[in-house]
Amino acid sequence: MARIKIGDRDVLIVVDIQNDFCPGGSLSVPNGHEVVPVINRLAKQFPHVVLTQDWHPPDHLSFAAAHPGKKPYDIIAVDYGQQILWPDHCVQATHGAEFHKDLHVPHAALVLRKGIHRAIDSYSTFYENDRKTPTGLVGYLRERGFARVFLAGLALDFCVRYSAEDAKREGFGVAVIEDACRGIDVDGSMGAARKSLEGLGVVRVDSEALA
Ligand SMILES: [Zn+2]
Repeated sequence: MARIKIGDRDVLIVVDIQNDFCPGGSLSVPNGHEVVPVINRLAKQFPHVVLTQDWHPPDHLSFAAAHPGKKPYDIIAVDYGQQILWPDHCVQATHGAEFHKDLHVPHAALVLRKGIHRAIDSYSTFYENDRKTPTGLVGYLRERGFARVFLAGLALDFCVRYSAEDAKREGFGVAVIEDACRGIDVDGSMGAARKSLEGLGVVRVDSEALA
């Protein structure tokens, strides 16, 4: 595999390495914790790192418990289209919303929180699920002069996928570091994610290829 040289216009975005997405959490991604040492190692190669956190109010619209009679993984119609319902997760300022205790990226310059509006979910770290409400991350990356975005984290088939798609649409070079991601795989969502990313020309790389 060709080596990719990391430089000053590259940024690593580490998506949602939080307790609720790791084994033992309320919405655990299978083997999600395995990416932590990979990301710790990887982050040392990037002078610029952004961490993101799913950060919901307690009665968030994406929680099945907020809809009487519904259960996790049911799909409902909301103002902006269809929404999968999830178990309560990443509630603001709870243990489940904290980063995994072994995540160690002290030089990360920004912690971007998303999913903060009660009535809109946000998979992407760039735009909420209405596809219009910005998180502000595009502006941050542009102002800092970054050209290429490298993505790692949880879950590959939701938050990483939609972040990669938005970054591509915004004109950044985009690579997903696959061995630094894990997926949930709800109803074939892993296959759909791979197909979509491939179609958009998002590069898939292995952490070993970065230097
Ligand atoms: Zn969420």
